[in-house]
Amino acid sequence: MTEARADPDGPGAHRPALRFGDRALTYGELAATAAPLVARVAEAGRIAVWATPTLETAVAVVAALLAGVPAVPLNPKSGESELGHIVSDSAPTLVLAAAGTQLPPALDALERVDVDADIDVRGTGVASPATGAPATIGPPGLTPETPALIVYTSGTTGPPKGAVIPRRAVAATLDALADAWQWTGDDVLVHGLPLFHVHGLILGILGPLRRGGSVRHLGRFETAGVTRELSEGATMLFGVPTMYHRIAETVPEDPALAKALARARLLVSGSAALPVHDHERIAQATGRRVIERYGMTETLMNTSVRADGEPRAGTVGVPLPGVELRLTEEDGTTAVEAYDGETVGEIQVRGPNLFTEYLNRPEATAAAFTEDGWFRTGDMAVRDPDGYVRIVGRKATDLIKSGGYKIGAGEIENALLEHPGVREAAVTGEPDADLGERIVAWIVPADPQSPPSVDELADHVARRLAPHKRPRVVHHLDALPRNDMGKIMKRALTHD
Ligand code: ATP
Ligand code: MG
Repeated sequence: MTEARADPDGPGAHRPALRFGDRALTYGELAATAAPLVARVAEAGRIAVWATPTLETAVAVVAALLAGVPAVPLNPKSGESELGHIVSDSAPTLVLAAAGTQLPPALDALERVDVDADIDVRGTGVASPATGAPATIGPPGLTPETPALIVYTSGTTGPPKGAVIPRRAVAATLDALADAWQWTGDDVLVHGLPLFHVHGLILGILGPLRRGGSVRHLGRFETAGVTRELSEGATMLFGVPTMYHRIAETVPEDPALAKALARARLLVSGSAALPVHDHERIAQATGRRVIERYGMTETLMNTSVRADGEPRAGTVGVPLPGVELRLTEEDGTTAVEAYDGETVGEIQVRGPNLFTEYLNRPEATAAAFTEDGWFRTGDMAVRDPDGYVRIVGRKATDLIKSGGYKIGAGEIENALLEHPGVREAAVTGEPDADLGERIVAWIVPADPQSPPSVDELADHVARRLAPHKRPRVVHHLDALPRNDMGKIMKRALTHD
């Protein structure tokens, strides 16, 4: 810090902030690169950001926070119709994009502003650290309720909805995670996620910036990059379950990766359930347990296993500081009191981490909240005696009502994945004259030439869980349908 104190550009300006491949910005350079964009952005009521995994995306979002103007991150892999929907729904006037990138016709109506992180800003005197983003930066007159971002949901259960996320929610969730994860400015994050969702953008970019720490983005996730960065001093890894699946498959044969993971301070998974089988394989090969956190676009983060808590496979830990969480019965208002690891209820949450509304969807917003302000997540869970939350699945697609039982798809998927003949698994329900619904398994066999039979899988599940949880139908697929976050699109399975 001696160097930082001697710096005419301000304390901390020379600390590393962001690195994408071989391009990097210090805090001072980040602030100086964002500064010329702020006036342009401030004139626009709302901006879009072409959210490629680049320095420029981070610079654009910081500029929007400095201007106090909400940014809508766009997924560069979206099709024309989805982009068209998001642009007409959110109505930005400008799109910020890395200089030289080509934009699709759906954005033709928007004025384009180029972002270039390669401009030389050293010695300009305008550099000052951006640490403290985003609640404490911005022009005067902003309130905690000013929207920081409008993020579209992943579209797993229907068309993406724009969640209006106020600055208060970003600050609250990042500070709650700092407490739970003992997250400080000394942490260096390895990041391989896209930047158009909460996970990659708010947790993965704004999180380290708020703490004064740094990010090393891999561009594209690959295990060699994880090994390199963790061996070279990075302390944390954030990933989605498909990444940890890749790690689980690779790590038994890759001692360098195992060693690198073993020295990380924190391995965090989220965005979808981490299969127990992958959690256990990583623990076995590295001696380290991945911790899971649970969140949504609308609520940012709700629960996590704490850094000083006991990591346990199949759970998402405890409510974060400031977050109230309850489980409710089917009526949506009666609280489930049980902490027995068995009684299923819908997760509802309240707290400063919540969004304000779904953009242009007053009915959907009203339907999402109870009269007394609890947000209905649509996720079903049980609670262990010590308060650890276990997600059973989504109410809409993962709760199967069969033979008088309510059965969660997740535990059956976990059991199927323990069968050596199963590489990937998803479970759904379909109408059945006798049972109400019957359990259907969609599997990617480990060996397509000799997939396990229905009877073998049914016996395997019945032995591990209970006879009424056995699948009655098994379909074989080459791959499961997944979205950009690696989430299984169950509606594509059941509607095809
Ligand atoms: P849409 O709302 O458009 O259908 P989505 O719900 O997948 O899509 P997101 O807001 O990105 O969009 O995802 C939030 C959901 O992801 C949660 O409601 C939950 O179902 C799931 N999820 C997130 N983290 C976890 C986790 N650790 N374990 C299980 N599920 C998780
Ligand atoms: Mg959702």
